[in-house]
Amino acid sequence: MAGISLTDHGKKNSSKTSFPENAQPRYDKLNKIVQNWMYSWMKPNCQTMEEYILSKYLLHRYISSPTVVEKVSTLMYEHFVIYLKANIETHESKYLFCLRKHVRHYAEYSNTILEGCNNAIKYHSSSVTPATRLDNSFTIIANNSDLKNVEMDKTLHSQFHSKPSLRNRTSDEQMCATHLTQMAYETILNSFNHSKSYCSHRYDATTWFVTQTKDACDERSKSIIATFNRVRTVTLCDDRLVCDCPHGRLYGLPCWHEIHVASKISTWYFPSHHDGSVIWWKSYYYYGMSTLSSSCAERETIYKSFHLLKQTESIGLQIDPTKFLDVPIDGTNLPTEFIYDPNNPFAINYPTIKYLDIVSYTDNADTIQGLTQLSSIAPNNELDELDTFF
Ligand SMILES: [Zn+2]
Repeated sequence: MAGISLTDHGKKNSSKTSFPENAQPRYDKLNKIVQNWMYSWMKPNCQTMEEYILSKYLLHRYISSPTVVEKVSTLMYEHFVIYLKANIETHESKYLFCLRKHVRHYAEYSNTILEGCNNAIKYHSSSVTPATRLDNSFTIIANNSDLKNVEMDKTLHSQFHSKPSLRNRTSDEQMCATHLTQMAYETILNSFNHSKSYCSHRYDATTWFVTQTKDACDERSKSIIATFNRVRTVTLCDDRLVCDCPHGRLYGLPCWHEIHVASKISTWYFPSHHDGSVIWWKSYYYYGMSTLSSSCAERETIYKSFHLLKQTESIGLQIDPTKFLDVPIDGTNLPTEFIYDPNNPFAINYPTIKYLDIVSYTDNADTIQGLTQLSSIAPNNELDELDTFF
């Protein structure tokens, strides 16, 4: 199920309610908030089922808070609640990020295989219509496919031979930009910059706890949408830093937690292109796929070799363990910011509401269990702390 189909098109199709014309701007504003909130469940904003249940509960409380209900009218409030229960929650198994966080997708993912088909029709095929004869359709599609292959060959050739010049950057970063595809390099660069907003505690010789700094959390707390800050564990396994967050498994690239820990070494500057999956190497596409690089037989051999490399790959940030000898160990006494229970998460912008509290309160069963009966829908008059957000 594509996210946009659920959050936008689905609502338009399912909406039988008509609101007064002057209420439209308020409806649009709330609609945008609800839509982005739902998108947060489809992305790494919610990484566990517990976080999702808490986020969903907070959304229900947000739209039922007195200020929101007063501003958008009870009719509009009911419209959103019914839509969430009847059209969104019933599709949880299809859209939840936390259910597919172990699937390697290299940043190319969709909630539905239909999206891949749509993409092919839109960008990789041709204007074959129902009126086109079958034999002509095959000819058109085959010709367009050949053209697309030639175009792809040229792109692979030019990308492989391009030598990006990064002034005032380290040689490690230059190597990354030279050997990796642009997207991989930019993803690593983003992780590198993002790692600066984290702090860490070295528990023992091989374990670090990593979390976002208070300033960064305060900035994120301004969001209306429930947002989470976790404490990640980075472990030194032989000559690799390995994190327990899903980033490495999803992208096949080092995460910002590993980069943050590596940056504690004064002589370490930037990840290497060897820290990512071979799928991100320019040579993988050029030697393994481009017809301009080698003969068909050679390409097949190289392609198989790359795949063998891929099957035996180790994800994590490669590092010489002796370099950590000079990095001090902080000890087993953990400061409060590094104590975190993933079984009882809370959103940093609604810190007083914790997961275990809401699941143990039976009146919430309708909301948190995803039940679709609508009989218990009523504005929540107890919540005041959310008033300032609308
Ligand atoms: Zn991580």
